[in-house]
Amino acid sequence: MEQAQTSLLLRRLLARIRDVMAGGGEAQERLNRIVRVIAEDMVDDVCSVYIRRAGDVLELFATEGLRASAVHQTRLRVGEGLIGTIAAQARPISLADAQRHPRFAYRPETGEEEYHSLMGVPILRNGRVLGVVAVQNRAAREHSEEEIEILETVAMVLAEMVAPGQLVARDELAAVEGNALLPTRIEGIVFNSGIGLGAALIHQPRFRIPKLVADDVTQEHERLRTAVADMHGALDHLLESNDLGGGEHREVLETYRMIAQDVGWLRRIGEAVAGGLTAEAAVQKVHNEIRVRMDDVADPYLRERVHDLEDLADRLMQHLQAVEEPAAQPEADEDEDVVLIARSMGPAQLLDYPRQRVRGLVLEEGSSTAHVAIVAKALDIPVIGHAKDILRRVEGGDLVIVDADNGQVFVRPGEDVRHAFVENLRLHREREAAYASLRDVPACSIDGHQVSLRLNAGLLVDLQHLEETGAEGVGLYRTEIPFMVRSEFPDVTSQERFYAKVYEQVGDRPVVFRTLDIGGDKLLPYWDDLEEENPSMGWRAIRIGLDRPAMLRQQFRALIRASVGRELRVMFPMVAKIEEFTYARTLLDKELARESGHGRPVPETVLVGAMLEVPALVFQLPALLDLADFVSVGSNDLFQFLFASDRGNRRIAAQYDVLSPVVLSVLRSVVEQCRAAGVPVSLCGEMAGRPLEAMALIGAGFRDISMAPRAIGPVKTMVRSLTVGTLEKYMTSLYGVKQHTVREKLRSFAQDHGVTV
Ligand code: PEP
Ligand code: MG
Repeated sequence: MEQAQTSLLLRRLLARIRDVMAGGGEAQERLNRIVRVIAEDMVDDVCSVYIRRAGDVLELFATEGLRASAVHQTRLRVGEGLIGTIAAQARPISLADAQRHPRFAYRPETGEEEYHSLMGVPILRNGRVLGVVAVQNRAAREHSEEEIEILETVAMVLAEMVAPGQLVARDELAAVEGNALLPTRIEGIVFNSGIGLGAALIHQPRFRIPKLVADDVTQEHERLRTAVADMHGALDHLLESNDLGGGEHREVLETYRMIAQDVGWLRRIGEAVAGGLTAEAAVQKVHNEIRVRMDDVADPYLRERVHDLEDLADRLMQHLQAVEEPAAQPEADEDEDVVLIARSMGPAQLLDYPRQRVRGLVLEEGSSTAHVAIVAKALDIPVIGHAKDILRRVEGGDLVIVDADNGQVFVRPGEDVRHAFVENLRLHREREAAYASLRDVPACSIDGHQVSLRLNAGLLVDLQHLEETGAEGVGLYRTEIPFMVRSEFPDVTSQERFYAKVYEQVGDRPVVFRTLDIGGDKLLPYWDDLEEENPSMGWRAIRIGLDRPAMLRQQFRALIRASVGRELRVMFPMVAKIEEFTYARTLLDKELARESGHGRPVPETVLVGAMLEVPALVFQLPALLDLADFVSVGSNDLFQFLFASDRGNRRIAAQYDVLSPVVLSVLRSVVEQCRAAGVPVSLCGEMAGRPLEAMALIGAGFRDISMAPRAIGPVKTMVRSLTVGTLEKYMTSLYGVKQHTVREKLRSFAQDHGVTV
């Protein structure tokens, strides 16, 4: 079918549906007339509408062509039969011979045996399936793509009829959505730590579509054009007026602005308008389609794009309806603290909400490198992601506690939980103030041992914590993280610019750049050849760098150029054998020689180190110490390989403890060997950031540890309350202990000796 023909047919059908809707009468009557109109215009023998009811059941609500007696009798579970499959998968199905399909579920009461072809589409609203509309034909007819599109558009109109509770009572619809009013605790993943408490503010596009079918298509095109122009202007203004500084969050927002110009997206909306929808309905239609396709997108970069597009749809809708501010959210008072709840959110949308009132953000989806998470980090808003079904389980205005220190969300908490958290929040603030006051005091133990506390960072926004924590520098700069939030592999110039910004932000403090540690759990959105059975032990980190020397050399080149006149510290991740270290170092030397050969300046000093995170390297330490300028223990990986315990697997997380005599003995031996060889050693895994573990590390001999910014205050407090000599002596009795863990013993030591852990 030609595009023009499709538009014509669609326009006529929509106009007829509009007449039916305007004609008044009971909702059921109108629905009966609508299925008749659809069957006629689509030239099919049957048109049926199934509506989803409580208990995941789809009920035949109206039909033209099937037996009238089956209406309100025939019911299918979501996932059952072809209709149930359409609902379960939220996508259309079109079959010339439906009865031969293995999923076909024959319902004798409908009399459908005489119909061969079937084409059905989901009735969607805000990403939820409210029902299914299907046409059937006696002939084994192939429905075209265009016809599927037409029925999808019609389904959207039907969604507006179903949603307001005219066909199914509102409270039943609410039950379908699964709301419960009991207190609930939902676990999620921490994207940005902290605690927040406030009234739930559901960030969900709340489109109110005043009219679905256009009276005048030309006028709708014009309205759309004006709204798009207004939206672009407002976005520019938003970015310019927010004091965002530099860094990834700014870059992310710039990308977002570019997506707003995406012609493909705007073209699809324009096509829907050409088909006879109002501009609002057209935005809604494209929004629905994007929402549904989301489930198929595995690629993290593309998923981010989809989130951004969704948000833009919302934004465009506001401009169409000439709403200056984000859709008014009736549940929250003007000055009430709020916790934003969203399936996903684009980075700019967070900025729409008043910064001082937003105490937390809870997302059903996302990742810690999600664009909105990066912006939230810059604004210091606690964020929890992957909070399963949060949107179904929370109502606007409910009290919500975001405990992004422990990855949990409390919805409608009882008085006791609420009280405990308010108290906790107060203590938290007091503690933060106490840590801030420690900023300029040294991390020095009672008996005068100086411990160097440094930061782990990956984004420029992390570096702002150097100042406020008083950390001595950056012990681990994970260079892959900036690569992960970008849309393509950065070239030498942009890498150089980026590293130069890092130097600018760290000032005189030292920074250790770790070369790309891609692979394992860190995938680049624009690389798709990294799927492996066992990725953490696969082609990752320095292995990739050495197999793709050009990539590694580019990174070296950028680092060398950015560090001219300063000291360059580089370390290699996942070194498993000495040759890897030597080869990587040779490549670095070649780059240094190349730069000098071209008459370019080079860094004043170059220090090259290795991460000690593969157990085999521990056994090659003497050889490594002859070659490396420094060593940094990556306890996250070292521990996962020592105990064959996946670092991301929660099911086994509690079974193995880093505070085991095995780990502590290995670490002590590493420190002793490094010390004897005169090679500086540090540790930069997560354990360094937990006060009790950090205490054990100091007892095992470490004097240089690197951790997440938030941990600096608590660890410094611990160091300042510790007598290292006493601890070292005590710990000599622990290395030979037969039990798996000495955690309790260390905790008792801390308690008995007044160490603040
Ligand atoms: C480690 O393995 O301990 C480490 C610091 O590196 P990453 O967590 O980035 O793998
Ligand atoms: Mg590691």
